[in-house]
Amino acid sequence: MFLFFFIIFILGLAIGSFLNVIIFRLESGEKIINDRSKCMNCRHVLEWHDLIPVLSFVFLKGRCRYCGNKISWQYPFVEIATGILFIIVSSIQYPVSSIFYLLFWCYITSALIVIFVYDFKHYIIPDKVIFPAIIVTLGFNLFNDFVTRYTLHVTNNNSQFLNFLFSAILAGGFFYAIFVITKGKGMGGGDVKLGFLIGLILGWPLVLISLFLSFIAGSVAGMFLMLIGKKKMKSVIPFGPFLVLGTFIALFWGGGIIKWYMNMII
Ligand SMILES: [Zn+2]
Repeated sequence: MFLFFFIIFILGLAIGSFLNVIIFRLESGEKIINDRSKCMNCRHVLEWHDLIPVLSFVFLKGRCRYCGNKISWQYPFVEIATGILFIIVSSIQYPVSSIFYLLFWCYITSALIVIFVYDFKHYIIPDKVIFPAIIVTLGFNLFNDFVTRYTLHVTNNNSQFLNFLFSAILAGGFFYAIFVITKGKGMGGGDVKLGFLIGLILGWPLVLISLFLSFIAGSVAGMFLMLIGKKKMKSVIPFGPFLVLGTFIALFWGGGIIKWYMNMII
């Protein structure tokens, strides 16, 4: 079991390193599969030992070996976050998971990490990431619905797929309403698409938990930034990162949160 999670973690570090490449190529408009990785400053081609996740950053003390230019904290942060999140998503599935489910959850985790970083840096949720994620999750939900109906012979009429679709329309519609009411100042079009994706990932009632948590986290962060004078009342804070955080928390601990809340009110 330890070995399994160790391998998952190493895999997460490697995928995280690839996610950094994807983020950089989305920023620069280069093709995703391109030639060798280069230093962003001096364009020196990086050797294999410059590209080891986390370790290279630590040994090079966060600087390029060739020009001494500072390497962004984004690189080790994304690698470690991917490693840790991969462990958590696979521990939810462990030990009943099939490779298929593991692949799906690792893919969704990766997509959400890219959205988190990109929206944080550029206030944009890239269509190249969100649309494939929506299509894959729709397909995954349809497949799951099919499996529970026809192989496990579950005969109730409540379609899981409709639950997820309903949650997606609800969350997406909610952000679309804010988008229209605030004339695009409160939320962007990207948040509408992200809301839709999150509904598809979480379903009802977990989608509520994720929206609730992200609004709380977003307002606390907004007030904090205003207090320390980094942001003014009117300036925009990207909401995508909070939605992604809320989604991970709802995914991992949502069931526990619902139980705890039910105990509180009864
Ligand atoms: Zn360099």
